Amino acid sequence: MRVLVIGAGPAGTRCATRLAARVPGAEVTLLGAEAALPYDRVRLSQLLTGESDIPGLITHELAALAAAGVRFRPGTAVAAIDRAARAVRTARGEVLAYDRLVLALGSSALRLPLPGGDLPGVLAYRDLDDVRAMLRLAAPGGRAVVIGGGLLGLEAAVGLAARGQRVTVVHALDWPMERQLDRVAGGLLAGRLGGRGIAFAMPAKTMAIEGTGQVEAVRLDDGRALPADLVVQAVGVRPNAALAAAAGLPVGRGIVVDDAMRTADPAIYAIGECAEHAGRTIGLVAPALQQAEVAVQSIAGEAAARWRPAADAAALKVSGTAVWSAGDIAGEAEAITLHDDDAEHYRRLFLREDRLVGCVLYGDTADAGYYLDLIGSGRPVAPIRHSLVFGAALQPVAA
Ligand SMILES: Cc1cc2nc3c(=O)[nH]c(=O)nc-3n(C[C@H](O)[C@H](O)[C@H](O)COP(=O)(O)OP(=O)(O)OC[C@H]3O[C@@H](n4cnc5c(N)ncnc54)[C@H](O)[C@@H]3O)c2cc1C
Repeated sequence: MRVLVIGAGPAGTRCATRLAARVPGAEVTLLGAEAALPYDRVRLSQLLTGESDIPGLITHELAALAAAGVRFRPGTAVAAIDRAARAVRTARGEVLAYDRLVLALGSSALRLPLPGGDLPGVLAYRDLDDVRAMLRLAAPGGRAVVIGGGLLGLEAAVGLAARGQRVTVVHALDWPMERQLDRVAGGLLAGRLGGRGIAFAMPAKTMAIEGTGQVEAVRLDDGRALPADLVVQAVGVRPNAALAAAAGLPVGRGIVVDDAMRTADPAIYAIGECAEHAGRTIGLVAPALQQAEVAVQSIAGEAAARWRPAADAAALKVSGTAVWSAGDIAGEAEAITLHDDDAEHYRRLFLREDRLVGCVLYGDTADAGYYLDLIGSGRPVAPIRHSLVFGAALQPVAA
């Protein structure tokens, strides 16, 4: 069986190596548009701060892939899928046949359609080339503006500050990371990052990026111009679904798949951030890897292969700042809060119908696993409600 896996991010690489191990006689080829060996995208933030170097990010060397039975071709973007011929065409015009095709195309960073948005010095934050470009431009003492105060924007801001940049984060809402944090935790985080020299323009909207031949400033809706030698847009992502749409596969926000991660064409699977399952796309690495495993099982002929979404959990990877959040923190819910002002510890639990549905931890995240387990299991929490906010240590062993 010839299996082509397109996209050498975490989902595609996991899928290719597991397939080669699981399916005897499978000829597995992994095609990646990026020139690099498969690397840990999640750790790009450590590369930016200087806590890691590029070799430290590589997850699979060429020899290891070959030994695992995977033929890896970097710098090979796929331009079209011919479903009738069961073949793909690469951007260089090469035609490669498949019996099973796995699309692991990830997402692309969104760019706001702003005047000046394509000036040199305006960057996205998605891949190794983006970080290389930031490091080239980030001369110590320079000024950087990060548009977007979500998780990625804050990690970019901290990384650039670590490189000696004077950084301002422009965020449209009243507090950063509003998808993961409530107002109190977001305010604490903004204060902590402010102490490290990162300024916030918040709430504020970017109206234009200004400069002559190179970015010079970011213009806000209140009229202010923030001087900038470098602008990073961290305003969200769009699943890469165009290749599948052009091949006539159903596409919503992502490539539509069933529980086994199969598209409408039984020979074609989609996994990771490019896939849309039950109307939802994912944005984290853990579910992307689980989806890869499910696709492998299905291709290996296991009829029971099913992907079931679990509660999302996200942590900010900034040393000295413990921030973690999981589940639903936005819907109607009862809340239990613990706030130790002096220690800068804060936690808020969200309960619905006697179940823990969401959680925000700031300052002390040691109980993250405990709460994630409670959210995932949906166990009733009434018997331990009085002590729930104090975490695992205060619970009876059976709880
Ligand atoms: C800086 C940063 C920090 C992050 N931190 C975290 C974190 O702490 N925790 C977490 O869970 N998630 C984090 N994420 C998100 C996480 O990286 C993604 O969820 C994960 O990478 C998704 O994996 P994927 O394989 O689906 O897609 P991707 O990693 O995007 O990989 C897709 C690959 O497919 C390639 N491709 C696309 N089109 C083609 C084509 N036509 N032909 C060939 N190749 C193609 C792309 O070049 C890319 O290399 C972070 C992301 C970034 C950018």
